[in-house]
Amino acid sequence: MDSVHSVSQACGLPRLEVHMLWQQVLQVSRAWLIAHDRDPLAPEAIARFHDLQARRLAGEPMAYILGYKEFMGRDFRVSPGVLIPRPETELLVETALDYLQRCRAPRVLDLGTGAGAIAISIALNASGASIAATDVSMDALAVARQNAQALGARVEFLSGSWYDALVGHSGFDLIVSNPPYIAACDPHLAQGDLRFEPVQALTDGSDGLSALRTIVQGAGARLKPGAALFLEHGWDQAKAVRQLLQQAGFTQVASLQDLAGIERVSGGIYNQG
Ligand code: GLN
Repeated sequence: MDSVHSVSQACGLPRLEVHMLWQQVLQVSRAWLIAHDRDPLAPEAIARFHDLQARRLAGEPMAYILGYKEFMGRDFRVSPGVLIPRPETELLVETALDYLQRCRAPRVLDLGTGAGAIAISIALNASGASIAATDVSMDALAVARQNAQALGARVEFLSGSWYDALVGHSGFDLIVSNPPYIAACDPHLAQGDLRFEPVQALTDGSDGLSALRTIVQGAGARLKPGAALFLEHGWDQAKAVRQLLQQAGFTQVASLQDLAGIERVSGGIYNQG
């Protein structure tokens, strides 16, 4: 009789991924799986595993196969219509939360929210903050709304491209964004998970800085004096983003390193207006 153990032999995937796929098929915990890995399996379960295994072997990201991705300790639903939340983006959220500690009842804006991971994590961790989140993609907004509901976060979702989504919204204490920042010519777009993700969430179709530029240049009109903007960007863009911030009238401009030691988030304080 086939079991998890026998079917998983030499299946061509890392052990952790094999476990995650079986957990999905059988809807069981990892501990259960390990304790029962020699139990006989129903043929449908084996067929379902082979289907997921084939998708993974074809390169589909685990997060799309499983339908969720963990971010800041919570599971976020994802679909191929949204970028998969990345561990390095936790730096942006942590930076935002740190900043918000000094504000009372702050108003926060997340531009290009995707699955909503940034906005929802801020909403759930910054008590008293009110959060608005935008996206140009209706698919993304639908996923983000589902995540907010499932996780019990209050976020106002707005549809449109960057600041176009805001109708009469301004006076924010903080704007955050993880925009598409990969240059159109970057070979990484044709590799790994990125091949399966929505291209408009990854690249601006140009030099990688155009969305960052739009966000920086429009921020001043939507921020209160003394408010902050923090942006995630690519491994080689920190200097360019700091320059954009300085040119747009931001002070205390600085970059922060992610866990890999890469300058990944830059921001500053808006002192004009
Ligand atoms: N951090 C992602 C990557 O390098 C890109 C996300 C983005 O463009 N915002 O794969």
